[in-house]
Amino acid sequence: MTENNKPKNFIRQIIEDDLATGKHSRIHTRFPPEPNGYLHIGHAKSIVLNFGVAQDYDGQCNLRFDDTNPHKEDEEYVEAIKEDVRWLGYQWAGLYFASDYFEQLYQFAEELIERGKAYVCELSADEVREYRGTLTEPGRESPWRDRSVEENLDLFRRMRRGEFEDGSRTLRAKIDMASPNMNMRDPALYRIRRGVVHHQTGDEWCIYPMYDFTHPISDALEGITHSLCTLEFEDHRPLYDWVLDNISAPCHPRQIEFARLNLEYTVMSKRKLTQLVDEKHVAGWDDPRMPTIAGLRRRGYTPASIRDFCSRIGVTKSDGTVEMSVLEAAIREDLDRSAPRRMAVLDPLRVVITNYPEHEEETLSGPNHPKDESMGSRALKFSRELWIERADFREEANKKYKRLILGGEVRLRNAYTIICQKVVKDVSGEIKELHCTYDPNTLGRNPEGRKVRGVIHWVSALAAVPAEVRLYDRLFTVSAPDGDKDRPFQEFLNPDSLKVVQAMLEPALAEAQPGDRFQFEREGYFCRDIVSKDLVFNRVVTLRDSWGGG
Ligand code: ATP
Ligand code: MG
Repeated sequence: MTENNKPKNFIRQIIEDDLATGKHSRIHTRFPPEPNGYLHIGHAKSIVLNFGVAQDYDGQCNLRFDDTNPHKEDEEYVEAIKEDVRWLGYQWAGLYFASDYFEQLYQFAEELIERGKAYVCELSADEVREYRGTLTEPGRESPWRDRSVEENLDLFRRMRRGEFEDGSRTLRAKIDMASPNMNMRDPALYRIRRGVVHHQTGDEWCIYPMYDFTHPISDALEGITHSLCTLEFEDHRPLYDWVLDNISAPCHPRQIEFARLNLEYTVMSKRKLTQLVDEKHVAGWDDPRMPTIAGLRRRGYTPASIRDFCSRIGVTKSDGTVEMSVLEAAIREDLDRSAPRRMAVLDPLRVVITNYPEHEEETLSGPNHPKDESMGSRALKFSRELWIERADFREEANKKYKRLILGGEVRLRNAYTIICQKVVKDVSGEIKELHCTYDPNTLGRNPEGRKVRGVIHWVSALAAVPAEVRLYDRLFTVSAPDGDKDRPFQEFLNPDSLKVVQAMLEPALAEAQPGDRFQFEREGYFCRDIVSKDLVFNRVVTLRDSWGGG
């Protein structure tokens, strides 16, 4: 990226200043997911920021699994997260697990104890809560706060050896129970979790460090210069700094907070996304309706469109909710430029061209892209029987209806014009097929002295390839499906978020490979499903914004 089109935001400004003043000679960031779920589009914002900054300032970015919460984490998530980061187009400098640092973290905890800055507390969880005070009242000091260094060291070592029950003791920082910042009221640094098997360290440990202790030290051990996190950690920054100020840390990274991404008509918390999967409201983490990276990939989003989306929304310090149309505009723009054009009939109605010879078939050609000749063209088959969209025909309609009516004439895209002569119905009155005539002199030129109503797409019934097409709509019916006690968020799920149709495709689409993307003319952008063995297409996005401004 050249100097001029680098995105500008307050974080990049801080980094440029730090480089200019010589505070740092190189930039090092990290992306620190907890492996307790798949990554979502909110994580993409953080990835694009952390890796993007490193890329643009010739720095480095680590991928670090923040795995201090063993009971919710899993190796499956570790692998999925690596795949997603790579797919987004980034390569980490170092791959780390916070659990790699368990021994060092333990030594730093002993250092805090030796400095009189931490103590083993025997209050129960309920008592700790009661002693903590409230936003308006100071807390009370734990009766265990003034133990000697020797006693604390002994107890902490016995915690490590597994001598105490879960919940019976914690290691707490000794800071200030009257601090207006609740995070500074002697926060827990270690808790006991006996009998859980950690996905990286097995049963080696029965005490686990808390996030607020682990994170600053992990950052410091990796030589991180700028530790970028979301706004909810702003109140934790004093604790981040306290930890590093009170141990012999190799360096002191700067924590900077930015706003989380919220998207309309979806949920972004991993807890809720896990529920959607576990309760089978969706087909899995990669269901194309999910806001996960895996879901967006399967839906047909490109890595470039997601990076573009992230630069469109920018990085700020104030929370807000982004309209779904912003995400869709990014993929639409990408695919408008890059996706070959094809014809697919999603709701087929048979057309018989009565003046076209039976059993004959001719080969026509259609450009792959109307604005890009270099993309070439593909062969189209024309024959006596065709499929058109049921919605492209009405027995009668006024001039505004630019499609086929009885007695009216339309152009078949890349082919001839046809006039509808007769409507054939079944006993129930439903239209079974149309009898039309074509004008053989209208290939590539207008009929003489007549004006056609419009252009519709079609597929030769002889050559058509049947396929399943999945049409997606918003996953929730309301823009902010937060839910509460009385109405859990699942109640806002859109029952019509997936519609499956049997479509007829032009023959060139039989060769589509999993992941190939196309514009189905007049219908939208579609991607061949990457999971199904059959010929299945997912609608990535419609041609025009259908969200009506939210
Ligand atoms: P959740 O609350 O859904 O579990 P999390 O914040 O706990 O999400 P992590 O795996 O801890 O998820 O997140 C890894 C990184 O991604 C963190 O730095 C976090 O701040 C960032 N991140 C997570 N969600 C968003 C979001 N919606 N927008 C921007 N960044 C996010
Ligand atoms: Mg987290």
